Amino acid sequence: MANSSEFGSQLSIGSNASRTSNSKSESVKVIVRCRPMSDKEVKGGHKQIIDMYCDRGVIQIHKSSTGEDESPKIFTFDAVYDWNSNQTDLYEEIFRPLVDSVLEGFNGTVFAYGQTGTGKTFTMEGSADKPGIIPNSFEQIFNCIARSHNQQYLVRSSYLEIYQEEVRDLLSKDQSLRLELKERPDIGVYVKDLSSFVCKSIKEIEH
Ligand code: ADP
Ligand code: MG
Repeated sequence: MANSSEFGSQLSIGSNASRTSNSKSESVKVIVRCRPMSDKEVKGGHKQIIDMYCDRGVIQIHKSSTGEDESPKIFTFDAVYDWNSNQTDLYEEIFRPLVDSVLEGFNGTVFAYGQTGTGKTFTMEGSADKPGIIPNSFEQIFNCIARSHNQQYLVRSSYLEIYQEEVRDLLSKDQSLRLELKERPDIGVYVKDLSSFVCKSIKEIEH
């Protein structure tokens, strides 16, 4: 690849509810978000090599330096969000419906994938004034629980890191422990001995 930083601004986010309540939605969705070029990339003279068609979920990649005759590559996703996208629109359009189905009892997963610097942390965590998917989902979950009358909910939190094939429990007192990935017919894939805490509020979960 001629210039990897031109590519570095792509992040894909998968979201999955094992069955959704909305018959129109697919169980697995792949969404691409592209962050704005950083000052460093702009100063370094890097050029943007992708066009995004957010209304159609399409991305077009041009080969920048060489290959004049090479035709652009086109990819289609469930949704694409460009450098003008904001945290709120992304959450409302993609993740609120997913968390809704989790609150109805379905399994849901949000998985952010992309090379370092592409915007995974920004999208998942965000900042105090631009909260990302994680704080937005906490708010949605506890708001829903506060409003519910005839339903009981139990929220448990775990926090783990998978780094270079090793699994570490970020809520454990002993950070030197490496945990094992296991599988059982009744519950599927799980991490053995991973700690899990019951949380009754956003405050408790953030603690
Ligand atoms: P990653 O976690 O994938 O390594 P980061 O989330 O740390 O990447 O993003 C790298 C840099 O780009 C950070 O300075 C972040 O604030 C900025 N950034 C990422 N996504 C966006 C965005 N959508 N809009 C503005 N800045 C962004
Ligand atoms: Mg990060």
